[in-house]
Amino acid sequence: MFKNKPIEIVNDLKILGIIFDKRFTFRKQCISIRKNLAARLNIIKYLTSNKSFINIHTLINVTRALILSKIDYGLPIYGWCANTNLNQINAPYHQAVRRSINAFPTSPVKCVLAEAGLPSIKDRLRDATYKLIPKLVNSQNKILNTEFINAFTHKRNYKKKSTIRRCVSYCEMLQISKHGTKAKTSQKSPWMLESSSYDITLHKNNKNDVNPVIHRKLFHDLSISYKNQNWNMIFTDGSKTEFTTTFAVVHEDGSLIAGGILEPYCSIFTAEATAFKQALDLASHNKGKFAICTDSMSVIEAVKNIYNNNPLLNNIRNFLLRYSKKTKLIWTPSHIGISGNEFADSAARSAGKAAYLNFHTTEPKDLSNYIAHSLAEKKEIEWQQDPHRYVTLNPKGTRATYPRTTPRQQSTIMVRLRIGHSKLTHEHLLTGTPKKPCPFCKGLLSTDHLIHDCKKLKSTRERIFGQVAPSDLLTNITKTNIDIINQFFKELDLSKKI
Ligand SMILES: [Zn+2]
Repeated sequence: MFKNKPIEIVNDLKILGIIFDKRFTFRKQCISIRKNLAARLNIIKYLTSNKSFINIHTLINVTRALILSKIDYGLPIYGWCANTNLNQINAPYHQAVRRSINAFPTSPVKCVLAEAGLPSIKDRLRDATYKLIPKLVNSQNKILNTEFINAFTHKRNYKKKSTIRRCVSYCEMLQISKHGTKAKTSQKSPWMLESSSYDITLHKNNKNDVNPVIHRKLFHDLSISYKNQNWNMIFTDGSKTEFTTTFAVVHEDGSLIAGGILEPYCSIFTAEATAFKQALDLASHNKGKFAICTDSMSVIEAVKNIYNNNPLLNNIRNFLLRYSKKTKLIWTPSHIGISGNEFADSAARSAGKAAYLNFHTTEPKDLSNYIAHSLAEKKEIEWQQDPHRYVTLNPKGTRATYPRTTPRQQSTIMVRLRIGHSKLTHEHLLTGTPKKPCPFCKGLLSTDHLIHDCKKLKSTRERIFGQVAPSDLLTNITKTNIDIINQFFKELDLSKKI
């Protein structure tokens, strides 16, 4: 009972636009999306009618905006439902993409999607789910965080794996740490960060304009003035190679204070920021005032930007706020012979070779780049295992870039020849009639046969193609190649039959 009225018992419930049913099959959700997509598909049908002059590029973008945006909402939640339910969405989506590039109705879905540069729903679902990992790892929500960490230890064979458990499996595969960077809450608000906490006076001199000697002199004067006020100068630097990301913090005389190795996927920005944090950590534990010198303006800018909510930067900001009297960041020009800077640079470089401590950072940006990279690699491998001839034309499975000025009729011929399904060669599948032979040599008809093999067309081919190899014409989509192909079929009087 709620306010003296009995609570109605229902089989499904719509929460924030997603329909949850009793058994979490998400069938109703998929059907509701299908209905919505059908209405949107009508817009695409109208835009892609035979009288349309809109180019292929715009049509693909319209399809992406109209159809994919609808599918994307809540996809990691409902997307892992049974294939039969997900197929409800697949049908209108594939139809929309096929119409946008005007591929022949019998064309394989995989080729159509690759030609348009749009993902399959399965791929989209995988991407959307694993993109949640940086958020899960760094989540400040206690309930979510506990659930995520517990999923690493409590293993059970679930009939239906939750999105969190799928993310956990992927984390384990990529060896991503489950413990995110925790930002400690500060007693002071970030906008109270004082301008005296950083000194970027030297940045005003353009490095290219001023002689290195003058730069060194300016820095020397600045450091003397700080030393006179009892500031200790320490230097930080980060380094990144193909296999390691490292950082170091040194004294002015080159003696090492801290150094470490980060995960290889960490960016140079993370290395510089971690070095900062270590330097500030040292400053907070020791007596005296510490001026931390760095050549990374991007980190100082990010620290200054209080809207940047990165946990590592929040920690740096908290240190600066708490120890505002004894810590300061100074920007120094790099690679001009300032000794402290050079020491930090070489210490950071050599950190990869020596046995330094390993530091775990889980910067959201680094993680999402790393995950995106691994997903793209996986996709490429899967793509190349496909035996279809289209894969040789488009080995990376990337979007075909047609010149924006290409008329729709011309791009249609190109698309159909690339995929290998055309009215001439595959219409019999739709009409149920016997397959037609080649109209010229009565041999087995295919699009490749006309472009490459048909012996009766040898002279026409040589005259129109000239020096260009027929396979190059379909691989490289340039205006000239599209014109040559169109010219060829115009002469054969087959333009309307492709
Ligand atoms: Zn032939």
